Amino acid sequence: MSDQPQLEQVVIIGGGLVGGLCALLLAKAGIQPIVLDAAPELDDAILQRRDARVLALSPATISLLQQTEVWPHIQRKADYYGMQVWSRDGYGSLEFGKTDSTAPCTPQDLLGSMVEPSVLGLAIQQELKAQITQYHTQVRVQRIEPFGQYWQITLCDGQQFNTALLIGADGANSLVRKMAGIGVDVLDYQQTAISCAIKTEKPHQQIARQVFLPTGPLAFLPMTDIATTHLNKNEAAGHWQSVVWTLPEQDAEELNQLSDADFLKAITHASGHMLGQVTIVESRAAFPLAARQADRYVLPHLALIGDAAHVVHPLAGQGVNLGCLDAALLVDSLMRDAERGLWAHWQTLNRYEVKRRTHNSLMMHSFSGLSWLQGSQLKAVQWLRSEGMHVVANNPLLLNIFTEQASGKSAIKDTRYDQY
Ligand SMILES: Cc1cc2nc3c(=O)[nH]c(=O)nc-3n(C[C@H](O)[C@H](O)[C@H](O)COP(=O)(O)OP(=O)(O)OC[C@H]3O[C@@H](n4cnc5c(N)ncnc54)[C@H](O)[C@@H]3O)c2cc1C
Repeated sequence: MSDQPQLEQVVIIGGGLVGGLCALLLAKAGIQPIVLDAAPELDDAILQRRDARVLALSPATISLLQQTEVWPHIQRKADYYGMQVWSRDGYGSLEFGKTDSTAPCTPQDLLGSMVEPSVLGLAIQQELKAQITQYHTQVRVQRIEPFGQYWQITLCDGQQFNTALLIGADGANSLVRKMAGIGVDVLDYQQTAISCAIKTEKPHQQIARQVFLPTGPLAFLPMTDIATTHLNKNEAAGHWQSVVWTLPEQDAEELNQLSDADFLKAITHASGHMLGQVTIVESRAAFPLAARQADRYVLPHLALIGDAAHVVHPLAGQGVNLGCLDAALLVDSLMRDAERGLWAHWQTLNRYEVKRRTHNSLMMHSFSGLSWLQGSQLKAVQWLRSEGMHVVANNPLLLNIFTEQASGKSAIKDTRYDQY
């Protein structure tokens, strides 16, 4: 009799945005993973209120969500076609896409879509329920242990799974990363992002805006209108936006303690009245910011994806987009080798790590550098920043390179998900 336990082909710990997408990509390729997620089930009730934040989904992420049938179930989203970035001290500005609201926008002009995390979470959960036979919610993993050719997973209720491939998609404080003994570099920005939904006097016109203040960036991101008590039926559409306001920790704490009336005054002033008065605020929340990079993304029979592998500064709105590219590249590598009769081979996992870690490190350091550059009060740095922005702003080729990178399209080129 063999001692070999029943081996699952793949178990994903964490069925959030990235783990959920990874499961659906595997199912589409003909592999049924087991998904274990601690989060509760969402229902339509979440649609009654606005989230504090939105995720700026790139065209590549949207394409992956279309290919896994999630996209048609997204119940509300705000497409955006233009982006304006500028510095309040007057040192430089940049514009991407269509920022002239009078010109008509075509689908080719789309820079991306803003979707609230809970709206996206609901759509992903619905598809996981429909497509994944063993999708378990409200189950918490307590321990993982390596046993040579497989990993053993133990839940808090004592239930166990053994798997030839464990995918850790359990977020920034990943238990999988910790218990697998993978170290992590942490860069504490000593900043907090205040997020909330706001209504402005002037409409957003499907343009995302970010102003760099001496204390950190302040972003106004288009949000969809929903019928709430605040929405008068005769009111013009397109005035709601999500705010990401990055500040030193102490300033953020003080701001967060203001009454709504004082907060509205503070944000109107900080934004330089870019869209007139800010008239309503909802769903205020605070997020302490730190960049993280795992020392390794893979070990034998184990891979990390999404925030479990890396966390970036939210100023470029790329966190979940990078995670979705991890999921796509991991599944693409796995399926290429599966077609040759190999499953979760060490070289396959290494290939995934090489492809993603370099790319993610580059993004992480660029965002950290940008955050420092924009916050600097040194005149020489301010001049350099202004010159840099000026060069980019006047060079359509460079602007195209930035837009192409942010779209994520080049990362899935030549994979099974390349639909461009
Ligand atoms: C202010 C702010 C703004 C942002 N804006 C953007 C943006 O515009 N665009 C963008 O792309 N990104 C943005 N991000 C980043 C984005 O939110 C994250 O990168 C993304 O949510 C990470 O997804 P994930 O699936 O890897 O992790 P998570 O969403 O954290 O999911 C982890 C899952 O694992 C589960 N889990 C954890 N531990 C266990 C366990 N022990 N057992 C079982 N399950 C477990 C959890 O329940 C959860 O479902 C922003 C972040 C912040 C803070």
